[in-house]
Amino acid sequence: MRKQIVAGNWKMNKTLTEAQSLTSEIANMVEDEGPADVQVIISPPHPFIYAVQNLIPEIGKILLSAQNCHHEESGAFTGEVSALMLKSLGVQYVILGHSERREQFKETDQELAKKVDMALKNNLKVIFCCGEPLEVRESDQQNKYVTQQLTNSLFHLSKEDFKNIVIAYEPIWAIGTGKTASSDQAQEMHKTIREHIADKFGTSLAEDTSILYGGSCKPDNARELFSQKDVDGGLIGGASLKSRDFMDIIKSFA
Ligand code: 13P
Repeated sequence: MRKQIVAGNWKMNKTLTEAQSLTSEIANMVEDEGPADVQVIISPPHPFIYAVQNLIPEIGKILLSAQNCHHEESGAFTGEVSALMLKSLGVQYVILGHSERREQFKETDQELAKKVDMALKNNLKVIFCCGEPLEVRESDQQNKYVTQQLTNSLFHLSKEDFKNIVIAYEPIWAIGTGKTASSDQAQEMHKTIREHIADKFGTSLAEDTSILYGGSCKPDNARELFSQKDVDGGLIGGASLKSRDFMDIIKSFA
């Protein structure tokens, strides 16, 4: 049985005290009203991870993710953060392949494959992002584009390793734009992704893989998106910065 997951990607937002307040608010709400069967993940900026960790109850209702890691274990990489460092902080997940990193930091599929390997080697689970730009969607090439991203960065993995991958489908044209994919568009792509995984790793592993939707997911559209058969939750940007909105999304499963 695959997990239902809602993960908050805070991106480059908040100060230390704001991050602590947001974490405490989310922790209290999850304690009071969080559905037992939804895994909540928060992904604060690297400098805040250590400080917010102490505010999360240890029972695992909320897990911690980082937003990136380097593909090497250690060394002369000024300003970078390694998977080993994150693991030593108690982080469980790392987001890799976010479109903002692909576009602004020129991360390639090949580099991402190495990052995935390094994360898994250090026992981090990976939230692997994929998604097409607007011009690809407009020329109806999105299925080919997204499945190629997955093939290039994930299909060298063993079945055993692939069990530690969560997929996040984030159409670039829907990120931070207020323009969400329709539930039909999301379902169609998630189904395509699951079939692609099944072709490579078998139906059983594909059925067990959580595939999240990201891109202007808000309290008022989450229920419709999450009701789709192959949508197993969300990777939330803007709406994860407000505890009430984030909590309402967490409660949006049927
Ligand atoms: P928004 O929810 O702000 O559109 O961002 C989505 C996203 O990029 C999550 O990683």
